[in-house]
Amino acid sequence: MERVIRRKRPTRQIPADEIITLDNVSKAYSTGKPALNGVTLHIKKGEFVFIVGDSGSGKSTLIKLLLRELVPSSGTITVMGHDLGKMRHRNIPKFRRNLGIVFQDFRLLKDRNVYENVAFAQRIIQKSTREIRKNVPSVLATVGLAGKYKSKVTQLSGGEQQRVALARAMVNKPTILLADEPTGNLDPGNSWEIMKLMEQINENGTTVIIVTHNREIVNAMHKRVITMKKGVVIYDEEEGEYHDEDE
Ligand code: ADP
Ligand code: MG
Repeated sequence: MERVIRRKRPTRQIPADEIITLDNVSKAYSTGKPALNGVTLHIKKGEFVFIVGDSGSGKSTLIKLLLRELVPSSGTITVMGHDLGKMRHRNIPKFRRNLGIVFQDFRLLKDRNVYENVAFAQRIIQKSTREIRKNVPSVLATVGLAGKYKSKVTQLSGGEQQRVALARAMVNKPTILLADEPTGNLDPGNSWEIMKLMEQINENGTTVIIVTHNREIVNAMHKRVITMKKGVVIYDEEEGEYHDEDE
């Protein structure tokens, strides 16, 4: 009888200070070409990373994989020591408690005021009312909205709404902050304010990953820049800059 010996690739030991590891990750949706195609990435605790690339290059797919909203078709994703492909459904909410998430379209509760939108995130993790009353004003002050805590979010400007979303993402002190085009709907001034706040969050120890099309900000901030194209990483540079699709 013939014996088949499957040789496993030697598994790489993930260093203790590495918080996100993608090992040869591909993701195919049921239709079309793979959205991600063999992506390998290592992100250390405390890094600030921009992800850039033209539309359709797989940036949002990558973010959704990190949130465990999607699972890879192949390859391994390890976040904070958890192999996301093996994570049980019932453990996903607990895993997400360590993540702050910001989207382009804010995704606030439109019928609630500013305070309630931020407090909501704390209630989900069962913080006491006493703690909520301490934490929410503090984080609203950080984003410059202390005076607007009673305002309905629909009465705020786009920049203010995104600051509420950022406060909501920050209030539980996430280990990782993920943002998918957070300044996509903002003017340059508000875009800078949001990016500066995210830099401040990073300086307090949170690992920050931002998908953006904002060339000016990327080029001014001298952070690590990962450039994607058609589902693969084409550049990954420390103190990098914005690359165009046709470069
Ligand atoms: P980006 O965020 O860089 O614009 P995406 O990750 O959204 O890119 O999309 C990558 C590719 O996957 C695109 O070709 C897109 O059309 C496709 N795609 C994204 N989401 C889905 C989906 N839910 N079903 C099928 N195809 C999708
Ligand atoms: Mg996208």
